[in-house]
Amino acid sequence: MSPTWKPLTGTSRAVALEVLVHGPLSRVELARRMEMSQGSLTRLTKPLVDRGLLLEVNGTRGAGSGVGRPQKPLDVLATAHHFVGVKLTGETAYGVLTTLRAEVVAQETETFDDTSPQNVTAVISRLVSRLSTGAPSVTAVGVSLGGHAADHQSVASAPYLHWVDVPLAAMVEAATSLPTVVENDLVALTEAESWFGAGPGLDQFAVVTVGAGVGFGLVVRGHQVTNADIGLGLVGHIPLDPNGPVCFQGHRGCSTAMLSMESIAGAVSVALGRRVTYDQALDLAAAGDPAAGRVVGEAGRALGRMLALVANFTMPRKVVLGGEGVRLVEVARGAIDDALRADRDPKASPLVLEVRPGDFTEWARGAAVVAIQTYVLGVD
Ligand SMILES: [Zn+2]
Repeated sequence: MSPTWKPLTGTSRAVALEVLVHGPLSRVELARRMEMSQGSLTRLTKPLVDRGLLLEVNGTRGAGSGVGRPQKPLDVLATAHHFVGVKLTGETAYGVLTTLRAEVVAQETETFDDTSPQNVTAVISRLVSRLSTGAPSVTAVGVSLGGHAADHQSVASAPYLHWVDVPLAAMVEAATSLPTVVENDLVALTEAESWFGAGPGLDQFAVVTVGAGVGFGLVVRGHQVTNADIGLGLVGHIPLDPNGPVCFQGHRGCSTAMLSMESIAGAVSVALGRRVTYDQALDLAAAGDPAAGRVVGEAGRALGRMLALVANFTMPRKVVLGGEGVRLVEVARGAIDDALRADRDPKASPLVLEVRPGDFTEWARGAAVVAIQTYVLGVD
């Protein structure tokens, strides 16, 4: 029987959560972080150790060592629980199986033509059963998608799937018999960074994604900044270039018009007089093709301007760049850096950029993290 987090409340849960996100930690370091005496901490952690939720391990990421009898640092057993995360696009479900610490241990993908909620639920259910074959049982499922799912249960709108008011969590729960949570994909990716990526040790950071759309997330003191509009993709249409192309909503040079993969591939295709994919457009730009280079350079300058806006408004310690179109950062780095510099005060600190892999595994892992958080925090 795996040790369970379910009955944890108050300080016990806060201690276990601190070890999950920052561990392994020595008891001295943990007491310091929790602002507790070592005696109180030892009394609090003993039942957690006795139940197998916290373990004594060798080695530590935390600082400090106690006087007297040396103690082994505490950690959680990350493999005690497994979670499935599924990221949906308009035609593909990307699934991962992760540990309690969001380490990906298996992945599966399934494409679909029929975007009806019934069919997509069946696709998710098949992914869950394939991912859990031969593995320890799955504790919970997280599903993420480009759309608005503010109550974590139903999808109010999802443009790529043409959905309105779909009770997806209940449908997946009925099909899999597993607790399920639904979240906007950018929110989920930002939560993954907050708990298991750039977040630990940073009080303030932002996430910017480029891909089918443009996304932005902000984390301040361990909490993502949200309101009821989260998941609407409000940063997808900010003006970046007065001479840019027009997006599907009629904005000239907005972030979607300048940075979405479809828009960049389309602009290069028009310039060349033949259809090219996004990756081909970037390949051509990298190889010195002048027409592709001009479009990709303009996209890079637009991204630099957007990063400068993010930095100037939100003052992050770091910006994490991700999304399936993130290869733009590598190909257009010079243009990005030039535009970023031009729109920043010369006295401002250099903006630290951290680039993530652009594959869908990262998005699916974000979905798993939402399931992990729901389970660990006990939010139903
Ligand atoms: Zn727009």
